[in-house]
Amino acid sequence: MKDRYGDDAEPRDHNPDCRNGWLGADLDGRMIPCLTCKPHLRTTVHTNDFGIR
Ligand SMILES: [Zn+2]
Repeated sequence: MKDRYGDDAEPRDHNPDCRNGWLGADLDGRMIPCLTCKPHLRTTVHTNDFGIR
């Protein structure tokens, strides 16, 4: 039974390079996680702005 998106069940913004949740490796040889599959691996680059006032 097809869903309402037809044959493609993937999210529309899902990276087509994703392979089992990985997008390959960066220039340093580190694995790049697919944040669509592994949203918990999103790196927190935002700074904590509640420390110094
Ligand atoms: Zn993915």
